[in-house]
Amino acid sequence: MALDRQAIDAKYKWDLTIVYPDEAAFDADFAETEAMIAAFPKHEGVMKESGEQLLSALSDLVKAQGKIQKLWAYSYLGFAVDNSDNSAQARVARVRSLAVSLDSAAWFVSPSLISLDGKRVEKMYAECKGLESFRRMIDGAQREKPHTLSDECEKLMAKLGDALDSHGDIQGIFSNSDITFGKIRGEDGKLCELNEANYITHLMSADRGVRRRAFKTLYKTYKQFSNTFATIYNAYVKEQCTLASARGHESSLAASTFRDEVTPVIYNSLIESVNRALPVLYDYYDLKREVLGVDKLHLYDVYASIAPASEAKYSYEEAVREVLDTVRVFGEEYYSTMKAGLLERGWVDVYPTKGKRGGAFSAGCPYTEPYILLNYTDTYNDVSTLAHEGGHSMHSYFSRKYNEPHNSGYTIFVAEVASTVNELLFAHKKLRECESDTEKLYILDKLMETYKATLFRQTMFAEFERDAHAACERGEPLTAGTISTLYKGLVDKYFGPKVVSDEEISYEWARIPHFYSAFYVYKYATCISAASAIVKRIEEEGEGYVGQYIEFLKCGGSMSPLDSLKVAGIDMTDPGVVLGAIEDFRHTISSFREIYSKGK
Ligand SMILES: [Zn+2]
Repeated sequence: MALDRQAIDAKYKWDLTIVYPDEAAFDADFAETEAMIAAFPKHEGVMKESGEQLLSALSDLVKAQGKIQKLWAYSYLGFAVDNSDNSAQARVARVRSLAVSLDSAAWFVSPSLISLDGKRVEKMYAECKGLESFRRMIDGAQREKPHTLSDECEKLMAKLGDALDSHGDIQGIFSNSDITFGKIRGEDGKLCELNEANYITHLMSADRGVRRRAFKTLYKTYKQFSNTFATIYNAYVKEQCTLASARGHESSLAASTFRDEVTPVIYNSLIESVNRALPVLYDYYDLKREVLGVDKLHLYDVYASIAPASEAKYSYEEAVREVLDTVRVFGEEYYSTMKAGLLERGWVDVYPTKGKRGGAFSAGCPYTEPYILLNYTDTYNDVSTLAHEGGHSMHSYFSRKYNEPHNSGYTIFVAEVASTVNELLFAHKKLRECESDTEKLYILDKLMETYKATLFRQTMFAEFERDAHAACERGEPLTAGTISTLYKGLVDKYFGPKVVSDEEISYEWARIPHFYSAFYVYKYATCISAASAIVKRIEEEGEGYVGQYIEFLKCGGSMSPLDSLKVAGIDMTDPGVVLGAIEDFRHTISSFREIYSKGK
């Protein structure tokens, strides 16, 4: 049972009084922001008149946005550690509507930036000192020019915005609230209600019967409702494809990668590289089959752990030492900043408490510390999570310190790089240090699982999305039948001829919420590939390379994600990056096999 928050020593809780010392300070800042928003419309119609006026509008905009970020961080973080705190919840709602009111007061900014004449902007940069700092924002808007519609159409699109994009919510509500999956007999022999929240726990059970029952029961329901799910998904894909084509993009994939500032070439090349390396994945499943001691591996077996349970326990103090030891290689600024953050500056909210949300995250803004929420329970995984979230926080720290606030936000395309680098470095460190084979197998299993889930599974999802959207663009309807055939074909390909491809899996697509954020998941795969390449260079070249990596962290949002990765010496257009990560996966499998065979 989780403790009450009051029972936790202050040194294990993050310190939000650095953000606002009290409620009154929050309210004062809130009122100030309201006034800024109320005054903002003065820029309407005049912001394009001169460089000075453009600069004045954009400065006011980012000032108001910065205030909202700070108000949001304070409210959201307060609510995250105690969701029974009604006043925190009310603050979250207030800030949310404040953000909406800024959006509507500043509605004219984007269209104004887009419609600026390219040559004129260059002149404005030259004439008006200070405007240069907004180049990323202005040029970003200018990129949209070829995909912008007439004023009338844009107004209509803005109005439609709210009504569109609701398919993900419909899928989520249907699958998590309306549908019941029925009861299954769990590990303890008792009947329990199966749902999306406990499904994966059943699938990780050491008892094959539990795994099979959960699998069969869950998909029976998805199959039953597959026509409804297909209709929702079809509507979503159609919407995405229609919007992309209305804006003159070649395809919805092209529209999405355009927003990410990459190209479909990178997307397709990821899929191609992973496809070429599928035998490595087949080998992983064969190892799983061997260790689980089953004749044939079924799809309900693939989440069962093949490692002995880890005995190791780490107090939070030990976790901090482990993580700091891992990041020592990054040099003085990284190390000492993180040390101060973890030990003195109250970055981390450590333990699970009543009403605190689950999981872990790093959050904050340029006007707060890069806070970390954990639910620490002394396990290896928890230490690894601290390394991971610490990576996010340090990426944010460097981005914010070396850029103006409006240029500090890095994009999703690179967001999981610094965190994964830390996670991999920590695993490698533990593998070097630990003496027991049991512990080594445990870590290797976790690593294999990470590569499998992040690199291969996400790429399979990416391939599914690409093919489903392409079918829609060819005018082929997506029905329960066509979607299931497409999905099953990919599962057969990714799991290989030796795994029994149970028919039920044909309906898995119906339960993946990420499919309602089109072309999002491939970024997980490209991030782990980049991280893996960076880790290799850190381990091989040490200090000679680390400086380059830190320079990448300092880029923040000041350049495109591909350019910032180039600063770290990583060229994402080179298939070698993905192939390198697959090579690491192969190596991890053989290390596991070697130790495992010794113990047989
Ligand atoms: Zn992360």
